[in-house]
Amino acid sequence: MAEANAAYYTKKNPFEDFITSPEISQIFGELIAVWTIMVGRSIMEKMPQSASFCLVEAGPGRGTLMADILRVMRKAAPDLYTRCKLYLVETSPRLREIQRITLKDHEAITVQWLDSVYELPEMPMVFLANEFLDALPIRQFVKISEQAWDEIYVQDGMKIKEIVERCPESPIFHRPVAIGDVVEICEEGQAIIAFLGRHVSKHNGAALFIDYGYAQPVWGDSLQALAEGKPVSPFIEPGCADLTAHIDFCSLAEIARNTGATVYGIQTQGCFLSQLGLMARAQKLSAHANREEQQQIQAAIHRLIAPEQMGTLFKVMALCSPDIAEPPGFMEDERNNDYG
Ligand code: SAH
Repeated sequence: MAEANAAYYTKKNPFEDFITSPEISQIFGELIAVWTIMVGRSIMEKMPQSASFCLVEAGPGRGTLMADILRVMRKAAPDLYTRCKLYLVETSPRLREIQRITLKDHEAITVQWLDSVYELPEMPMVFLANEFLDALPIRQFVKISEQAWDEIYVQDGMKIKEIVERCPESPIFHRPVAIGDVVEICEEGQAIIAFLGRHVSKHNGAALFIDYGYAQPVWGDSLQALAEGKPVSPFIEPGCADLTAHIDFCSLAEIARNTGATVYGIQTQGCFLSQLGLMARAQKLSAHANREEQQQIQAAIHRLIAPEQMGTLFKVMALCSPDIAEPPGFMEDERNNDYG
């Protein structure tokens, strides 16, 4: 899965196959900018005026989200804008080049590309990742008896089921899984969350993850593939389709808590964006728009927060240093979704 996705993101234009929130509407990035500014202020409050912080995005795609964030920051929080050092964690050389072009108006900011989060400097940071975790490889296991698990994998084009001597570490193996059930674990995602939990706790900061997945301790086979905008078998020619799996936010939250970080969420995207002021922003944009643009804004909002669209399936989780104030967007109440 790792190799197939690396080939896919290097060769293909993923945005022909799927559309992500920042590509749906600028409002998404503007609201994440509000989040970044509020959290950034809380982080920098106790730091000297001259101190800088890292603004990090993992898997920035075309750079659209970061461009919207920097545009808002430059205007609404110029002090934070000049104090941030930008790090983009991206493995695809093709997408790195597109990101460089998207962000070219921000020559005042130093940008550095990294291959992995483990290279991040030991500094205060605001870390953002939208649809990054779901691109990381998973392993699948099926419970065959009270004590034993088979691993399911592909080798030389063959689907293999093989008993495992020792299951990898994951909270999911401690759940009441029935015989015959499939569970998935994302070791890379778990390791990244543990690293970032320790990082924000030790060096002051916050990390925000938005992705589709489970907020409850549920499981099952969620591996899927998209090619040319349509679902296909994950086993068609490797590198031709985007392979993803649902995120087990419950396990990730447990791992993060064990590092000392304070975990907020797991919130739905609909509630999160509504609490950040989605409707007010949409109304403001609509006031200056013609009829057709107003309809586009309406359609974009629907897509981002309606429960049957991305509003409920997409979840939001933040890991924060225990020293910072509660970040916005995590009040627990479904009524906070403007879509009702
Ligand atoms: N966040 C963007 C793009 C999501 S697509 C958006 O919302 O539009 C996934 C992104 O993660 C792509 O930029 C892809 O190249 C990157 N990516 C995938 N696997 C990665 C890995 N192991 N390390 C770093 N980046 C990765």
